[in-house]
Amino acid sequence: MNNIKKHIQSPEFITALLVGFLLTIVQYKVARPMLMAERFVQGAGWIQICVAMVYAAWVMHHIKQPQQSATWRLRIWIAFSIVFFSQLLIGLLGLEQFLMTGKLHFPIPALIVAGPLYRGEITFMIILFISTIVLTGPAWCSYLCYFGAIDGWASRGKTPHTPIAHKWRYKIAGLLLVIAVTIVLRVCNVPILYAIILASLFGIGGLAVIVFISKKRKKMAHCVTYCPIGTIVSFAKYASPFRMHIAPDCNACMKCSMTCTYDALQKIDIQHLRPGLTCTYCGDCISSCKSQSIHYTVFGSRTNKARTIFLILTISLHTCCLMLARI
Ligand code: SF4
Ligand code: SF4
Ligand code: SF4
Repeated sequence: MNNIKKHIQSPEFITALLVGFLLTIVQYKVARPMLMAERFVQGAGWIQICVAMVYAAWVMHHIKQPQQSATWRLRIWIAFSIVFFSQLLIGLLGLEQFLMTGKLHFPIPALIVAGPLYRGEITFMIILFISTIVLTGPAWCSYLCYFGAIDGWASRGKTPHTPIAHKWRYKIAGLLLVIAVTIVLRVCNVPILYAIILASLFGIGGLAVIVFISKKRKKMAHCVTYCPIGTIVSFAKYASPFRMHIAPDCNACMKCSMTCTYDALQKIDIQHLRPGLTCTYCGDCISSCKSQSIHYTVFGSRTNKARTIFLILTISLHTCCLMLARI
């Protein structure tokens, strides 16, 4: 009996249950089948929901262990990106069931904001983006974004202490530039073809930053300097109840800094006992701190449950996006 109670209360079980619940709502309520299996065989969506629940429990089992967290986070994030881009490729080859609405959208994160601004309408993507920010803060940029996974993969390895110079100048300038150009395109009624060309050039520029800077610097230069969505997330994340803090017993050994590819654990951040604004709550630094000084909080309180609650929500969202999100 005690064993059953223990399993029912485990983070794995709760995550699986939450995933099952959310996907069941989608299966019942959304008119166009959103689960891939349902698009091909009626009723197969239920099997996909069961698979998703097992996947979520399996991911939680690995990521809840701080020593395995960084490795598994990157693995599932890259897998997410591969699934996403593979679906896009198959969709482009003519199997439109692999596209979310049957129409092609460009897989460039900046368009999450630029798209609605240009078209003057609220899209599904922006609602999804805002919902994840409110629930899990910046987890969008460490678990849910198909593009950021490429930057994470390119910058993997031991991160040097050297900060990325002037990152805030680049970040703010990039965000303002994208907003200004989009408004000009809209006001001047510039044809969609030109907007697509500009968006493609922006995406290619992002890939160049990943290849030439992130890979060399072992830091996610694309996400922390170039991507305007990353800049928005840096501030909007405070809408969620979660935070990362460093306890006063930190001895400033700087070991955690070598695990932070988001450039959020500079000397100044550690002195202020708070990771920098570019922190995405990825949790990669947790196991590097022997004194467990760096930790999650929820609603301002440091509790052992804060990280678990964050992971339950984040892994559930990651799994649901993996099952539903397409371009
Ligand atoms: S910063 Fe941009 S590319 Fe990077 S993870 Fe966030 S949204 Fe994706
Ligand atoms: S948080 Fe931990 S690992 Fe980081 S500097 Fe402080 S004591 Fe060292
Ligand atoms: S400070 Fe820690 S949780 Fe925040 S981005 Fe860096 S490694 Fe991730």
